[in-house]
Amino acid sequence: MNRYDGVKVLITGAGSGIGRATAIRLVSEEAAVFAVDRTEDGLAETVRSASGPGRIVPHVADVTDEPAVVEAVRAAAAELGGIDVLVNVAGIHKTTPIDTLSVEDLHRLFSVNLVGTALFCREALRHLPDRTGVIVNIASSAATQGNPYMTAYSASKGAVLAFSLSLAAEVVGRGIRVVPISPGTVATPLTSGNVIPDGLDARYFGRIRSLLGSAAPEQIAGVIAFAASPDGGYITGAEIRADGGSGA
Ligand code: NAP
Repeated sequence: MNRYDGVKVLITGAGSGIGRATAIRLVSEEAAVFAVDRTEDGLAETVRSASGPGRIVPHVADVTDEPAVVEAVRAAAAELGGIDVLVNVAGIHKTTPIDTLSVEDLHRLFSVNLVGTALFCREALRHLPDRTGVIVNIASSAATQGNPYMTAYSASKGAVLAFSLSLAAEVVGRGIRVVPISPGTVATPLTSGNVIPDGLDARYFGRIRSLLGSAAPEQIAGVIAFAASPDGGYITGAEIRADGGSGA
């Protein structure tokens, strides 16, 4: 029997990159996946690429829109017959040199990366079953490793990590696990669209390079699939770094 046979999973950011690869991976392991993203096009491609034996239901929602998050979680529970696993993948990145860092950038990065994650956790916890429920939150190696021109993004991911550790301690009494996963550099639209603005010193970007080079999103999906399954059943409140050795 597949480890995800009959398991109901809500994934945000499922229309691209790591979220899409995770949806495809879990559907291949027989999960029922409720795939959330903010546009239809990316989700449609994910649905086309997920070929079973599980099933996938697309749903458009902006993770920063509180009523839309409440509705997405309600719809997921209704459509799947419950929610066993929540995987918060939706996120944004922006290069923000300190001299031009704007309040708008800070609010936007924290709104998507932290507030979106927190809202989905709050709402999904109304449905996750005691003893077996799992939350996986995607942080970043940038949460604990300094990178130039990434202060705002790094801070937002540090917040996701800290949020996840405290939440793990809060819900452990219900037997629910919370696992933050911190990827290093992954080859997705998020990184390919991240061009280094003119005038910045590119030498220091080398700090974030992994010994193994960039990961494929499927490699991070494999780590998520492990962490959210019974194979990862003794892991909670601990960061899993999947950084290809960048922190070595
Ligand atoms: P990606 O390919 O850009 O996927 C992120 C997805 O989240 C996109 O479909 C994006 O939609 C969606 N999203 C953004 N804002 C949203 C919102 N407000 N509501 C709903 N969906 C929203 O990026 P990725 O590389 O797979 O990143 C996934 C996660 O991994 C992010 O949290 C990122 O910070 C984290 N991460 C990535 C790397 C890396 O190197 N790629 C490293 C460490 C951590 P749009 O395309 O419309 O924006």
